[in-house]
Amino acid sequence: MRVWVLGRCGGYPRPGEACSGYLVEAAGRRVLVDLGHGALSRLLLRLDPYDLDVVLLSHLHPDHVADLPALRVALRWGRRPAGWPGRVPVLGPAQAPDYLAHVVGEPLEEFDFYAIAEAEPVELDGLRVQFCRTRHPVETYAVRLESQGAALVYTADTAPSDAVRELSRGAEVLLAEATLSEAYRDRADAAGHLTGSLAGALAQEAGVRRLLLTHFFPTTDPQESVAAAQKAFGGPVEAVEEGGAYEV
Ligand SMILES: [Zn+2]
Ligand SMILES: [Zn+2]
Repeated sequence: MRVWVLGRCGGYPRPGEACSGYLVEAAGRRVLVDLGHGALSRLLLRLDPYDLDVVLLSHLHPDHVADLPALRVALRWGRRPAGWPGRVPVLGPAQAPDYLAHVVGEPLEEFDFYAIAEAEPVELDGLRVQFCRTRHPVETYAVRLESQGAALVYTADTAPSDAVRELSRGAEVLLAEATLSEAYRDRADAAGHLTGSLAGALAQEAGVRRLLLTHFFPTTDPQESVAAAQKAFGGPVEAVEEGGAYEV
């Protein structure tokens, strides 16, 4: 399994960068997880949008879904290959189809929407996908992707959460948000986000092998977050880079 980072900014993009988006390749499947501001441009560096097998939306904040209407335009008006089924399955919060239809002014017929059900793993030909609710101001899901015995967990946006810790248990790679700098640690619960040290504590408690930090607010220094996470985790930590590929 491999994850490509399309964007690593949280809230709004840094100059020249993109917000949340990840392309996971596993078991011959291409799974898009979130598509925030600017992330479609990075996705198109990697693949033809008609080659996407499934889209997972953690929640409906714009830094995770802003480019989905643009992906829809690409699918609607692009050169459709023969044999393309005509729709891409999208798993997300139940309100996703109504929210996106409101944004674009009509239903998005290029997507088949499915509401995420907690604790009901989805099997996709050798890829197992499982979700849990996180602690964030809107309905948000962390996701665990398992293939050939290896697990990748993406926290999405969350404050410290028992459910996310349990979903992360024993994963090879934990892709954790580290939105806030340590100066905001006291406000993490209220904000519904983590700092580097809180992401490190989550990784330590869940017994994961490796911690990747992402979703940095533009004023957060990723290297400070890595240092704080390393201290709390004790295992390997790195800040993801836009365009970077990480093996799981
Ligand atoms: Zn976010
Ligand atoms: Zn959010």
